[in-house]
Amino acid sequence: MKRRAFLKSSMVGAAALGAVGEVAQFGSNAAAEGDKEAVLKLCSQEGRIPGKDCREKVLKLEEWGAVGIEIGGAPGTRVQEIKDALKGTRVKMGALCWGSHNGDLVSTDLEKRKRGIDDLKQALEVAGELESTGVIFVPCFNGQSNLKPDELDKILWDILPEVGDHAQKCKSRVLLEPLNKGETFYINRLEQAAAICEKLNNPGLCLMGDFYHMSREEKSDTDAFVRGGKWVHHVHLASWRRVLPGQDDRKFVDGFRGLKQIGYQDFCSLECGCDGDPEVEIPKSFRFLEQQWREATI
Ligand code: MG
Repeated sequence: MKRRAFLKSSMVGAAALGAVGEVAQFGSNAAAEGDKEAVLKLCSQEGRIPGKDCREKVLKLEEWGAVGIEIGGAPGTRVQEIKDALKGTRVKMGALCWGSHNGDLVSTDLEKRKRGIDDLKQALEVAGELESTGVIFVPCFNGQSNLKPDELDKILWDILPEVGDHAQKCKSRVLLEPLNKGETFYINRLEQAAAICEKLNNPGLCLMGDFYHMSREEKSDTDAFVRGGKWVHHVHLASWRRVLPGQDDRKFVDGFRGLKQIGYQDFCSLECGCDGDPEVEIPKSFRFLEQQWREATI
């Protein structure tokens, strides 16, 4: 609690402009969830879970102690199927893993850009219908844009306010996902995404953290989540080798400490491969994560 008090007292104003360069002072966004105690809500991408259909996967997740499922793309044609799969269980809809739409939203071709924006808006409508925590969005992967980061910033500032308003209308949000430099030259760390969120200051525009990318780009998992602060609304879980947490020596305690400091309330979702039999290894990984969460004292 002391820590939280410190963070509150160190609140500063909006992040520096030229966002994707040097940003927000330590703790600027923290503690926005108020004094709510953080919770570990285990979740998984649908494809990671064995099972013949979505219902079977949801039941398995529930049995293994998870409370969320993340679905790929914009599953507009699957809304009823997914609602039926969740019915009567504790499992809720996590994020929709949507991606970059080939970088169209930051394309200099305005037709392409419009198509990308329209499709993201549609994904947000599906997210709203499913009560999803948000739609994961990557502006561009490597090779999808020739623009420089500051040029890409300007496009985001231009297009995202309208998308964020739409997200709010749908009762969902866009989730910017920072990736390691092997996957994108643009937005590699949480503080860079947070600077964009700070500047736009729209509750429909938030961010997420992925432990796999963070292990390559962040100096401190704790500081990364604290800098992400109130904008952090989803987490991806994977080990250093991008297999299940606990299958190599990647630790989660420091990151979980950061999530506790910001009073994190959303899902932590498996996005990874698996060494061995998933029926055995996934429950084991969930127990490992619960142990890491207990060890993350603040
Ligand atoms: Mg990810």
